[in-house]
Amino acid sequence: MRVCLCFLFLTVFSLQASTPPKSETVRGKLVVRSGEAPLVETAEHQRIVLDGDTPTRKVLHDPRVNGFEVEARGHFTAPGKFLIDPQHTRALLVRDGGKLKMITYWCDVCYIRAYAPGPCVCCQKDTDLDLRDLDDIR
Ligand SMILES: [Zn+2]
Repeated sequence: MRVCLCFLFLTVFSLQASTPPKSETVRGKLVVRSGEAPLVETAEHQRIVLDGDTPTRKVLHDPRVNGFEVEARGHFTAPGKFLIDPQHTRALLVRDGGKLKMITYWCDVCYIRAYAPGPCVCCQKDTDLDLRDLDDIR
């Protein structure tokens, strides 16, 4: 019996070790200030510092997204620190007019869409912030 229990314990332990961190969603107001780590302030006034992959980081440092109501999916890496899932999974969304939208950037000269702020890949013009309905992107 003792052997059985031991085996069971090992199985459970190895399962836990191979499972990726549980995905969670944080909601609140995005606070973007130059020189400071971007964070989200929840309805309970809890401040959670956000991080993500390279395109997500660029978005998080764009002053134009400051003050947006956002929903970010990912997991906590430490208390008060949240790592957003990779951008291609559409893990960072904005609530706008009761709808969830994706943060995109648009060049109205070339009609090229980008998912991080910065100059257009084609004409180098600064792209415009463009919130898109998830339905329109699909
Ligand atoms: Zn362009």
